Amino acid sequence: MTTWPDVPADHPFGRDALPYGVMVTPAGSRIVVRYGDHALDLRAVADLEPDSAWARAWREPTLDAFLALGRRDWDAARVWLRDALADPGRQEEWAAYLTPVEQVSLALPFTVGDYVDCYASEHHATNVGRIFRPDGEALTPNWRHLPIGYHGRSQTVVVTGTDVIRPTGQRKPPTSDTPVFGPSVRLDIEAELGFVVGGPRTALGSRVSVDEADEHLFGVVLLNDWSARDIQAWEYVPLGPFLGKSFATSISGWVLPMAALSAARVPLPIQEPLPLPYLCGHAATGYDVHLEVAVNGSVVSRPEYAGLYWAPQQMLAHMTVNGATTGPGDLFGSGTISGPRADQRGSFLELSWNGTEPFALADGTTRTFLEDGDTVTLRAWAPGPTPGSRVGFGEVTGRVLPAR
Ligand code: CA
Repeated sequence: MTTWPDVPADHPFGRDALPYGVMVTPAGSRIVVRYGDHALDLRAVADLEPDSAWARAWREPTLDAFLALGRRDWDAARVWLRDALADPGRQEEWAAYLTPVEQVSLALPFTVGDYVDCYASEHHATNVGRIFRPDGEALTPNWRHLPIGYHGRSQTVVVTGTDVIRPTGQRKPPTSDTPVFGPSVRLDIEAELGFVVGGPRTALGSRVSVDEADEHLFGVVLLNDWSARDIQAWEYVPLGPFLGKSFATSISGWVLPMAALSAARVPLPIQEPLPLPYLCGHAATGYDVHLEVAVNGSVVSRPEYAGLYWAPQQMLAHMTVNGATTGPGDLFGSGTISGPRADQRGSFLELSWNGTEPFALADGTTRTFLEDGDTVTLRAWAPGPTPGSRVGFGEVTGRVLPAR
């Protein structure tokens, strides 16, 4: 019999966080919310609010129906949940609906619709430019005018804990005039935030403005954009990332509502030159999110999201400005998050400077790119609404298996 937990005010998964997830049980999948070190079964508590659309959506096996509802229902559900969790009268009954998080198996929390990955970190884009175009301008001429992105493969977005098989494909070693075929020898990660879209699907031909974007932004996940640099380098000119990225993209099982980041909003960097009017709006904001990249338990980098050049509201405005629709389950990545310092780089490509500067792990080994058996874990937190408090993200982890 679980007793109701005493969740301290400074716990990263207290009432100010409340990320949603989907728990696998022998009887099927159920929507849960993380509270402290437990998952609370929302299907069970939904029966207490039978008349609301959001409670009906909580009875579904994924977040899909809840995502489709929109801002008003998301906010109403969050207010109800926050109040209920603070109500001592509910605690004896609700204790039966708790599962310790270490016993929770998380499923992919929603059906991923369109998946786009952007490229919004100036430090990352500059590092990559210096590595691959050492004699040219580090940033491409378009970079300060639009949030660059590409369409990825949504069906290979996987939940935390899913093993990643080393991809095989074409690559052209620098010493060879012709390509060779085989397992990637330059497998990498990219530490990113992923933004989850909800609300009714937009009409074909319509646009989402920067100031309308928050109505469509449900939440945020941690995202690892696994990348085979050797496959990528050979294939990407002139159409962009393809098989070097599409084999797997890992996301955290917990989706943190954007509302949980209300106290983490920070100004964007100065955008100079001023972007075109459709990319301007008061809602465009940065977020003070602190990430950590661990390899086999060794923290190798602490990227800071706050310095990212483009806001998620601008990314969504850009990806709909041509009239393309967006709807519930769409997912877009921020792009690799790298800071100005070497210990803030969000990829092995940058940490090892294209393989020329191996970096050390705690066990004494070094890495340039990933080895079979390596486990990569991303974690993050943001400031909460009371001084010193933190809002936690669920981690995203994955282990590299040998090529098949
Ligand atoms: Ca990426």
